[in-house]
This record gives sequence, C-alpha cells and structure tokens, in this order.
Amino acid sequence: MIPKLATLAVSAALAASMAAPVTAFAKDGVYTASSVGRNGSINVQVTIKNDAIADIKIVDWSETHPVADLTKTKLIPDIIKYQSVEVDAISGATLSSFAIKDAVGQCLKKAGLDVTKFEKEVPQPALLTDTKTLDADIVIIGAGGAGLSAAVTAAEAGKKVIVLEKNGFAGGNTSVCGGCFNSANVNQSHIKMTEGQRKIVEGILAEKPKSDLHKELIGKVSKQWKAYNDKKETVLFDSPEFHALQTWKSGDYKADLALVYTLTQNTGNVMKQLEKIGFVWRDKATQFVGALWPRSNRAQNFKSGVGYIDTFLAYIKDKKLPVTIELSTKANELIVKDGRVVGVKAQAIGGDEKGRKYVVNAKNGVILATGGFGANVEMRNAYDELWGKKLGKTTPTTNLPSATGDGITMAKQVGANLVQMGWIQLFPAGDPQTGATSFKLGENSCIYVNRDGKRYVNESERRDVLAKANLAQKDGLFFVISSAKRALIDKDGRNAYGVKVEDILASGKSYKADTLEELAKKAGINAANLVETVKKWNEFCKKGTGDEMGRPTCMDEHRLDEGGPYYATLMTPSVHHTMGGVQINTKAQVINKAGKVIPGLYAAGEVTGAIHGTNRVGCNAVPDALVFGHIAAETAAAAK
Ligand code: ADP
Repeated sequence: MIPKLATLAVSAALAASMAAPVTAFAKDGVYTASSVGRNGSINVQVTIKNDAIADIKIVDWSETHPVADLTKTKLIPDIIKYQSVEVDAISGATLSSFAIKDAVGQCLKKAGLDVTKFEKEVPQPALLTDTKTLDADIVIIGAGGAGLSAAVTAAEAGKKVIVLEKNGFAGGNTSVCGGCFNSANVNQSHIKMTEGQRKIVEGILAEKPKSDLHKELIGKVSKQWKAYNDKKETVLFDSPEFHALQTWKSGDYKADLALVYTLTQNTGNVMKQLEKIGFVWRDKATQFVGALWPRSNRAQNFKSGVGYIDTFLAYIKDKKLPVTIELSTKANELIVKDGRVVGVKAQAIGGDEKGRKYVVNAKNGVILATGGFGANVEMRNAYDELWGKKLGKTTPTTNLPSATGDGITMAKQVGANLVQMGWIQLFPAGDPQTGATSFKLGENSCIYVNRDGKRYVNESERRDVLAKANLAQKDGLFFVISSAKRALIDKDGRNAYGVKVEDILASGKSYKADTLEELAKKAGINAANLVETVKKWNEFCKKGTGDEMGRPTCMDEHRLDEGGPYYATLMTPSVHHTMGGVQINTKAQVINKAGKVIPGLYAAGEVTGAIHGTNRVGCNAVPDALVFGHIAAETAAAAK
C-alpha cells in the first residue's frame, strides 16, 4: 500500500499566524521570524516603517536549487510592492514561498499590525494577445540537464539556439535530484574488490546471450575479467561494457541495449567535458542507492544536481554562447511541414509577456528535453504497470510540479512511438511529507530498519526491489540508520543536499542519540533488536562476508562501528522517475510508429524511453540526460 500523507504543517502555521489578534499601533523596527521551507527553516527579517513593509531580507535558508532564488528576486519584491502576502507563490518553489509568506506574516504580527490588511488581492497584469515569431537553428524544449547539455553542444557547433522553458527558472528535476553520476573506471582506485562483487561479475558473464550485442558485450567483459585476474588485481573491477551489462540486467533486459551501451560508453567523456567548464568532481566514487556498483560520482563544489545546471548556465554566460533561454514559456505543439518538424508553438505563461504566443522556427530541428511525467498524477496512474495504479495524489514525489510529460504528449501528436510507458520508479527513501530526497541524515544506501529494529532487504539491491520492500513495512515507513561520522555533514552543519542538520532534527522526521538504545527509544524502534541488527552489520563490515541480507560489500560510508552519535531518519518511497517515453535511436532521433526517423525531431533525457527498462539504475539518470542531450545536439547540428 502507498501511505497516505498528512497535509503540510506549513499551511497550518500560516493560517494560525494570520488569525492572531492585533494591537492598534505598529512599532517601526526590524522583526525576525522563521518558517520551514522545502529544505529547512527560512529565517526572514522584515523592516516595518509607518505601518508598512519597507524591506524583507532572507537572513538564512537551506534552499539549494535555482527556483528558490525566485522567491528573493520575485516573491519578496512583489510582497513589498503590493504590501500583501497574497502574491502568487513561485511555481516550483511553493514550499519556500509559503515559508516566506508565513514568516513575513509572523513579523507583521510581532510588529502589532493587522495582518488581514496585508492579505489584499494582488492586481493581475493584462494578458498579451499578440504572436511573435522567433528564429533559431536549433530549438530545445526544456532547460533541465538534457536541454542545457544539448544547448552547450549545439552552440559550440556554431548553431543559434533557443531554449523554451515553462518554469520561471532553469534546472528542472536535474536541479533537485541527488546529482550522482555513474561512470566506469573513474575515481575507483580506493575501492577493493570483494568476494560478493566477484560473484556478481561471474554471474553476469555466465548468462546466456540474448542478442548479438549482448553476446559481444559478454565477450568483451570476459576478456577484461580474464586480464584483471591474470594481473591479480585487487582494486574494483569495472568497464563501460560491464556497466552496460549490469544496467541492462537490472531493467530486466527490456531496455534497448544499443542505447544502454551508448550511454555507458559516453559517461567518461561527459565527466571530462564538465570538468573543463568548471565542475569539480569528488575524487572518490561511491555506491548510491540502487546504483548496484561503486561507480557513483558527484560534485565537490556543489550540493545536489544543481551543480550541473549552474555550471552550464555560467559557461553559456561566460563564453557568450548564442543561447537564449526563454523562461516562463511553455511549448504546446510541434510544427510539422512536409513530414519534417520545423518549429514549435509556445506561449508565455508568466512574467511581463504573459499570454504572448510564439512561433519558434527551427532550421535544423527541435530537441525535446522536457523530462518525465512523475508529477502528472493522471498520466502516471493511466500508464502505471508496476504499482497497481496506486500512485495517486497522496503518493509523494521527488519531482518538481513541472514534470507533466508535455514532451511525450507533443511527440505523440506527430506520430512518435512511445515505449515502456508503464514502468515508473519510486525512489526508495523519500521524505514522507514532501517526497523530497534531501531531508535525511546518511546515505540512501545505509541500512534500513523497520519499527521492529530489523533489516528486511539487501539495501544495495535494485530500486524497485527496495521500494517494494519498504512499502511492505507498516504504513510504508522505515528508518535509514547512520552515524555522525558517515552522515556527510559539512562544517556548516548541513547534509549532502545543503539542508541544515538542526532543521532536519527539529522536523521530527530524524532522530539523533549518542547510543543505539537511546536512538531506538526516541524514534520508536525496538531497542534490543536495533542493537542486535547493528551488531550483525558491524560484524559483516569487519569480515566483508556473510551479511544477513546478502549485501556484497560494506562501503566506508555505511559503517556504523565507529561510535555515535547515531541517526535514524523516517522515510517512505516516492515517485521519482518515469522510465518510458519517446523512442529514440542511438543518435537521439525520434522514431515513429512505423520504426522510421521523424525528420527534424530529437529527444534526450527522461522524456525518452527504453534506456532503462523496468528499473532505472540509481545514478544513471543524470548521465542519460547529459549524454543524450549532447548526442541530440550533435545530430541536430549536423542535420541538413
Ligand atoms: P531531464 O533530466 O530529462 O533533463 P528535467 O526535469 O531536468 O529533465 O528538465 C526538464 C525541463 O523541461 C524542466 O525544466 C521542465 O520545466 C521543462 N518543460 C517541461 N515541459 C515543458 C514545456 N511544455 N515547455 C517548456 N518547458 C518544459
């Protein structure tokens, strides 16, 4: 069963603060208050002068993605301009917006003002009704990871690029994801191969080939494995071919293996390219949840997936690349002429040009980079084949609200073949209230325990296996257990996503204690069982074999044998990734129902299907978006 969720506490807080009694005269001065946003508390300072809001400042916050910045550049100026907290919340940053409005409301109350006077309706600007024509060589729909990767490649190939983005900010889900990036043979020299991992390689090599390409890849990896053993290597074995075989297997052999291999062969190049343009990788790969092998890389100079977006945007600006990003502009329809996609019809849905229609001509073609449909409840339940059509409104999602499958709908209208639409991934460890991945202490692949204090799954398994096992616990809830030494807390007291640890603890979703017994008591876990479970886990970490759940390895970041304090974070699965979508070939050209290329149409990232199969390997999504974004742009740039 998918658990039901409580309504957000923040709305209640907002309502409560607005209903408070007021005094007759306000005192000029500076007032501060805080409220909880998406990533933690937002501390706001409001200056009151002559019974009016003179200024609002954010003193401190943990919001990490670019969308949240719009609350500073748009929401706050609007509140001051209209002297009202009834201004529109920023779409995609609703929780941050509500937190700011709530904190401002609290400040008004502290100043003794009548809060209801600051709830005036805000005048809406008149809608524009004209149509504007824009011309580009390549039009990209969506400014997430795939779209911006494509934009940079296309612009560097000398093409004039227009990116249409319906949100008021660039970044998409890429900017709010964990940001991990699988690539074989990078940053793995610190990892020793275990017996469990040897068995995994041998199991994959023993498989009966299911296709010529499968046979070819098994042949290549067999040779690599022999050479590895002949040299008596002890460092982790890996290769792009092995990465491809593992990926294909974990999607139940349903993906298009040629696409999988294209992906795994190109991750290394993309990492190098990113490095050249300012992205700094951590020098030690690890194994993220559902990643199946320790080849997960992430940024040193950024928290979460926002680093990819910031790096692309900064590069486009610094190099003055011919890329125009039209924000708050929603693509609605592809324009087809003589069987070829030649442009896009779009409309401004926000900002000063709201209402204006656009015809955007694309000389070389259009690249769909619109992401998935994880936030489209209707679509996910219509297509779902894995979760019994129970992915309703109360099931949380890690996605931004903009992940509504628009690209899939537009492509379908021009005859694109949709593939594997029924396979939707639940992220095993999401925030039970918001679905976000960021509100936790410790890696997503630390040990999981239920209220009985017992483990129930091998946490290094596929994500679908984990999500199912987690949903089978009481109310679909479980705890991720970690220790302070391994919880990736930085010197500012923030976790790997930039969220303040004190906010996470204050939320009551995560618990901290010096001993496991105390932790169990605080979190409502069976203490004796938790102690026993951790004891067994520590024994496995010491020996390296014999895990009670069959984990092949205990990575350093999962160790619990170095003393407390310990953390337990309450989690539930949340809708994360839609594996199905538009069919493409290895050149990122969109394929129609008759198996033919649709001229002028390309697609990359989560909008596409058949790259992952039934289950997406953790940390293969950002590589998918960036690799195929790059390929789509190369193909489109070369198109006549
Ligand atoms: P990917 O990882 O595949 O790049 P993301 O979710 O990161 O996917 O990015 C997809 C982007 O596409 C988001 O920023 C989203 O707002 C944008 N988008 C989706 N539909 C449309 C549309 N109809 N018009 C313009 N932009 C869109």
